[in-house]
This record gives sequence, C-alpha cells and structure tokens, in this order.
Amino acid sequence: MIAHGHDCYPRECCGIMLGTLDGDHRVVTLAMVCKNVYAGDQEDRFQLDPRDQLAADRKARDTGLTVLGFFHSHPDEDSYFSATDLKNSWPWYSNVVMSVRNGQFAVARSFIANEDQTAATPEELHY
Ligand SMILES: [Zn+2]
Repeated sequence: MIAHGHDCYPRECCGIMLGTLDGDHRVVTLAMVCKNVYAGDQEDRFQLDPRDQLAADRKARDTGLTVLGFFHSHPDEDSYFSATDLKNSWPWYSNVVMSVRNGQFAVARSFIANEDQTAATPEELHY
C-alpha cells in the first residue's frame, strides 16, 4: 500500500483491502492496487476502476477472504477523511488514508463511515 502511494505520487493512489474478520478485529492480509480512473485532477481525487472492484470481489470469493475496505493516499496532505471521501464511502468498510509528503509515506489513519454517510469514526490502526 505504501509502495503504491509512492508510485502514484503526486497523484492519489487507491486500492482495496482483503483479509479476515476476528470479531471486531479486521486483519488485512492482501492489498490489491487499483487504477485511479478519476478523469480530473488526480492530485486530490481518486475513483476506483470498477473492473478492479470486480476483480477484488472475485479474489475474495476465490480465496475465502473478505473485502474489508479501501485505501487511498493524500499527496502532501494529512491523513484525514475528507467530505468527498465521506460522500463516496460505504458504511461498514474500513477506509485507510495515507499521507504521502514529498513522495514519502508519512502516516496512515483509518475511518469508518456511519450508515447515512454524515460522519466517519476513526478506528485503531496497527501497521
Ligand atoms: Zn481522501
């Protein structure tokens, strides 16, 4: 995930996280990098390629893993959940946001949106 953040800098990277559920504990064991297909300025926006989303669903079925959430980077910005991120999110899923400053990974935080996408709660993230 970090390498993908570096590779895409100064554009936003994005991807899908698969893994296992252990009660409330989510363990990411596979990160699939996705193509950012946002048609505008990708320095502060991303859009997952729907083909990558289908591939992730297929991968989950084939491996018995669960799609746990999504990740993307914020080039030269902090790792916060923006209004756009909230609007484009789905409830339940983890959303990891990586801050990449001057091409180097700085910090990552994870957020979960509520049901009506009006707020996101940070979740504890170990990496
Ligand atoms: Zn964002």
